[in-house]
Amino acid sequence: MSATAQALSGEAGEADTMTDGFHLLIDALKLNGIETIYNVPGIPITDLGRYAQGQGMRVISFRHEQHAGYAASVAGFLTKMPGVCMTVSAPGFLNGLTAVANATTNCWPMILISGSSEREIVDLAQGDYEEMDQLAIARPFCKAAYRLTYAQDIGIAVARAIRSAVSGRPGGVYLDIPGAMLGQVMDAVEGQKTLVKVIDPAPRMRPSDEAVARAIGVMKEAKRPLIVIGKGAAYDQSDDLIRQLVEKSGYPFLPMSMAKGILPDTHPQCASAARSLVLKESDVVIMMGARINWLLSHGKGKQWGEPGGKRFVQMDIEPEEMDSNVEIAAPLVGDVGSCTEALIAAMDGEGISPPKEWLDQVHTKAEANMQKMSTRLQNNNHPMDYHAALGVLKQAINDRPDTILVNEGANTLDLARSIVNIHKPRHRIDVGTWGVMGIGMGAAIAAAVETGKQVLAVEGDSAFGFCGMEVETICRYNLPVCVVVFNNDGIYRGDGENWGGGDDPATTVFVKSARYDMMMEAFGGVGAWVKTPDELKQAVEAALSSGKPTLINAAIDPAAGKESGNIGNLNPQSVVAQRLYPQARTQK
Ligand code: ADP
Ligand code: MG
Repeated sequence: MSATAQALSGEAGEADTMTDGFHLLIDALKLNGIETIYNVPGIPITDLGRYAQGQGMRVISFRHEQHAGYAASVAGFLTKMPGVCMTVSAPGFLNGLTAVANATTNCWPMILISGSSEREIVDLAQGDYEEMDQLAIARPFCKAAYRLTYAQDIGIAVARAIRSAVSGRPGGVYLDIPGAMLGQVMDAVEGQKTLVKVIDPAPRMRPSDEAVARAIGVMKEAKRPLIVIGKGAAYDQSDDLIRQLVEKSGYPFLPMSMAKGILPDTHPQCASAARSLVLKESDVVIMMGARINWLLSHGKGKQWGEPGGKRFVQMDIEPEEMDSNVEIAAPLVGDVGSCTEALIAAMDGEGISPPKEWLDQVHTKAEANMQKMSTRLQNNNHPMDYHAALGVLKQAINDRPDTILVNEGANTLDLARSIVNIHKPRHRIDVGTWGVMGIGMGAAIAAAVETGKQVLAVEGDSAFGFCGMEVETICRYNLPVCVVVFNNDGIYRGDGENWGGGDDPATTVFVKSARYDMMMEAFGGVGAWVKTPDELKQAVEAALSSGKPTLINAAIDPAAGKESGNIGNLNPQSVVAQRLYPQARTQK
């Protein structure tokens, strides 16, 4: 029953026939199917969280707004409903804003609801408590931003926020709620009439017949075709259609990191292990919900082979995405499901099937690379290296494919992405389009809360440092999250030296052999400190079968990492470094 209806059913008395901004906001969210709020309490929204819990919503309170926000954005990715994050004013709002910006960049729907101080004082800059013009600040970082001044507008504001977040290209939305608005009182019957249920918030968008025919025309001419599947396709949840298109076409496919598992990485057409070859040699590439951005070298350069040697078919819900980096020969504007369905239907009788030589070439390369990798994964080096540790985790996910993998770090990310196979859609969550560090605990919490599944979070020690305090949240809500910290004593590597020769540690190293496992123990969870693949295997087994909050501190060779992982080329170069710092040559 809504709070408003409850008020009405109570004993007579004036308070019973009234409602207020707090309860209208909760009713508006619930009416639209939003059941969970990712929250950090404080002025002026402390009571809003209490009341939401009182009204049967799940309110997960975090230790820092950034992680509550990341959790909300991941909830949006997993469910196609906007995840909701709630924060206090000014500093709390700014912390949450990072997550809204990240959600918008990743095209994930979320709504940041922040309390704000008194408008009339803020607007005259009279020095209010946590004074800040939050609405203006939020605008450039999100898809849409709205401010609520009157309780009677809550229904329409929430409807606008939801529709803005999920329709078209999804993104982050900011909803500003001045504290005073929450306390506004109105007649409960009138209040209920102001609520809006959003009908068909993310309408399907079908590509035109003409656009489909154009795409088929390009596909018919392909000699070395490739399908690239991105996280927009994972978001779309048209998993069966995507599989049908891949299998009916016979094209090799390459999943972007968060699209892994839409089709299992072990699928015979998966070309991940021949990534360089297929990017370079393909002549027609079908992009499904994946942008041709930095993660794909902008579709240009050595990685992509001969300039002008490729024709792209691109499915995207955002028309402006077309030609963002390279010419798109056949744009398919629409949702991935509708575009895929249309292509499948139009392929009949068109004789689309890739030449055998191409498939053989891809297959041979992939097999050889997988073979090379599998020997590296079984090593027993001491100290343990990334490959040995990831060999264990790969097996753990193979054994329990329902586990959701969260992954961040530099080397920890790059290597886990290519080593650990994912078998189910939306079972891998990582640093996304920005490559942001610190998403791990928020993502793990959201994955556990939204799906009820076991989560395995594989974290570099540096990445974990950005969000580690949320292990308390994991313990408090008793979530089935196992965190494995790849502890190599530092950022990229743990063996750096101070190039100025002073006593301070190098800028990229941490305390040696830090006991991250004790952080989990501090809050009642299980901690383990492991130094060999066997110990890691035992600890992961125990964690995944018990479902208990666990942190496994896995000691990794401090000398095993590569500077910036696979993207060291993005670091600017100094012309004088080699002369000034002899270590520059040896230490990286
Ligand atoms: P990846 O990082 O996996 O390559 P990106 O985040 O770069 O993926 O690209 C995702 C793309 O998917 C975005 O351009 C976005 O507009 C698009 N997109 C999001 N949702 C849908 C959808 N339902 N249907 C089609 N395209 C979508
Ligand atoms: Mg590290």
